[in-house]
Amino acid sequence: MTEENNNKPLDKKERVKIPRQKMPEQDPQARIRNFREVPHGLTAELAMTEARRCLACPKPLCMNGCPVEVNIPAFIKLVTEGKFSEAAKVIKKTNALPAICGRVCPQEEQCEKVCVMTKKYGAVAVGNLERFVADYEREQGEIEIPEMAPATGKKIAIVGAGPAGLTVAADLALLGHKVIIFEALHKPGGVLIYGIPEFRLPKAIVKSEVEYLQKMGVEVHTSFVVGKLDTVDELFQQGFDAVFIGTGAGLPNFMKIEGENLNGIYSSNEFLTRSNLMAAYDFPEHDTPIFVGENVAVLGGGNTAMDSVRTSLRLGAKNGYIVYRRSRTEMPARKEEIHHAEQEGVQFMFLTNPIRYIGDENGWVKAMECVKMELGEPDASGRRRPVEIPGSNIVLPVDTVVVAVGNSSNPLIPQTTPGLKTNKWGNIEVNPNTQMTSRPGVFAGGDIVTGGATVILAAGAGKVAARAMHKYVMGIPFDQPAASGEKAATKAG
Ligand SMILES: Cc1cc2nc3c(=O)[nH]c(=O)nc-3n(C[C@H](O)[C@H](O)[C@H](O)COP(=O)(O)OP(=O)(O)OC[C@H]3O[C@@H](n4cnc5c(N)ncnc54)[C@H](O)[C@@H]3O)c2cc1C
Repeated sequence: MTEENNNKPLDKKERVKIPRQKMPEQDPQARIRNFREVPHGLTAELAMTEARRCLACPKPLCMNGCPVEVNIPAFIKLVTEGKFSEAAKVIKKTNALPAICGRVCPQEEQCEKVCVMTKKYGAVAVGNLERFVADYEREQGEIEIPEMAPATGKKIAIVGAGPAGLTVAADLALLGHKVIIFEALHKPGGVLIYGIPEFRLPKAIVKSEVEYLQKMGVEVHTSFVVGKLDTVDELFQQGFDAVFIGTGAGLPNFMKIEGENLNGIYSSNEFLTRSNLMAAYDFPEHDTPIFVGENVAVLGGGNTAMDSVRTSLRLGAKNGYIVYRRSRTEMPARKEEIHHAEQEGVQFMFLTNPIRYIGDENGWVKAMECVKMELGEPDASGRRRPVEIPGSNIVLPVDTVVVAVGNSSNPLIPQTTPGLKTNKWGNIEVNPNTQMTSRPGVFAGGDIVTGGATVILAAGAGKVAARAMHKYVMGIPFDQPAASGEKAATKAG
């Protein structure tokens, strides 16, 4: 569609006839040899054409599907008018991380799932448009700091610089509070920086979104492990009025099977942290050791498993296997990630479960014994339970294994914060209306509360917490509106 056509008003019938615009991306054969981002992003023309598919529903269901309440129809309308920076500002009223969410949010399960176009014509590509306008604003150097409330004199500590902590920080800074983030690693971003690879989420984007917060006055103290240096109680003693815990679920789970201590077997955490945070992906600029053999098996079916196997191919593996005990239907990874992995030649071994590792004389893994599974009745998760088929054992030669079967919450903060209640999985318990924990003034959100979930759910919890924390520090009861503060909180998110 030409620019001229893009300006012509369209009726509903004409809009639905426009096909969903495809985002250009790197060829699979070329990209498995580099770490550059896979999709190139929409062009301005493609974005305007895609935006014209939006029917501007009077009751937009897409907004109900967005945990951070982005005004989707309003920003898309601005895109149809070519007002890209204005569109980015609309998103930023409620979402401080649009370039990130535009890339990694499971839109197909949220805003795009409930779009009225989804069934018959394919959803409006909300995520691709969000990414486009956020990139446009950044590349044009048009990022502006929003209007901030006058200083309140209140000081708030955020523990953990993942999407939950960053969202709380943005919203509270806008409301005029002094916000200091304490992050254990040497770079802020949480999973966005140490887990999700460069080819899905370039580090420069995370850096730029953190810098945006810093321009709003948020301080970020890195290499600061709360619970080892200062405890939560010591933060209060130092004059903080409230504390938010957004420490994520970073404790890797293992299969607990024979041979798991052999060399060549990583947790996905270690493997991805070496590649991403420690920049092994950027060899020879960075010379971080990471061993990747010819045959790499990744255990699991989530985004972490896809990221690990696709990373292993880029680091030189000949065969990258996904070994998953259920079938393709039950895989929790985003559809786009599975599709990209398939295009890149990843081999999927469904209904297959490892039962032991076999080592060589030097203590390195050389094979993995697995059994085939079939699906039985649904379990507590609602997914059909995998059941072993007796005698179906196979041996897969492997020299590297990455275990990506989920993470648990880090126990350090609960262990060092008396009175902080956790559930049986070690997740911090909160009141879902306020995100306040069993300790007054201590709030929590993101994976540390839910267990491993998504970026947007962590950000959504951060927004709820920020509103409640504002009331808490200003002495406003939770069941009362925060007057001008509430307005500002809504404005800010
Ligand atoms: C490899 C991988 C890929 C993923 N892909 C996707 C995806 O495509 N889309 C999606 O929506 N979700 C994805 N997820 C899930 C998503 O990243 C998480 O749900 C989200 O990051 C949770 O945010 P959070 O802020 O709660 O925690 P995190 O992002 O885990 O951040 C927690 C931060 O707290 C810090 N911290 C921990 N303890 C302390 C302490 N004691 N003191 C100070 N700091 C501390 C940690 O270092 C970390 O930086 C993925 C997860 C992984 C692991």
